[in-house]
Amino acid sequence: MQALTNRAKPVDRRPMTFTEKLYLPAIAKGMVITFKHIFQKKETISYPEQKRKFSPVFRGLHVLNRDAEGRENCTACGLCAVSCPAEAITMEGAERKPGEEHLYREEKYAARYEINMLRCIFCGFCEEACPKDAIYLTETFAPSNYNRESFIYGKEDLLIPMPGEKKKA
Ligand code: SF4
Ligand code: SF4
Repeated sequence: MQALTNRAKPVDRRPMTFTEKLYLPAIAKGMVITFKHIFQKKETISYPEQKRKFSPVFRGLHVLNRDAEGRENCTACGLCAVSCPAEAITMEGAERKPGEEHLYREEKYAARYEINMLRCIFCGFCEEACPKDAIYLTETFAPSNYNRESFIYGKEDLLIPMPGEKKKA
């Protein structure tokens, strides 16, 4: 029979010697290893008090952008949804009505915009596909939760707050 790896080791079934039965040498050996690690640089951190710096290429939660006048950039063109390999984006477009020019930059806007963060693989394709600079991925990640519904982020969760407005927790 052909061996899959060369890592297999035969089990040592010899009876234990008197020193082995004492276990003390094995405990001492273990303690030496433990003490050696006390003086080495720690690889772990005390999260969440301490946080590691994100990599410059980290892609986290999405935000929907506004223009300099606070109007929504998204025109519900659907390119982000089409480019999404995980089919995580859902939206419904609507026509801007007279008097809503201060809310939406163009004649069409997303009346509903949802991203299912459990489906999302944070590839960033939506950001790249968007011709309106309306969606981008930030350096935050979705907080943990006990139910799946809370991972479906709606427009109110994604939209950048207006100046002076507080973002929903
Ligand atoms: S980051 Fe990728 S998977 Fe997530 S919504 Fe955008 S395109 Fe879809
Ligand atoms: S976020 Fe960008 S790509 Fe997606 S619907 Fe809005 S404008 Fe189009």
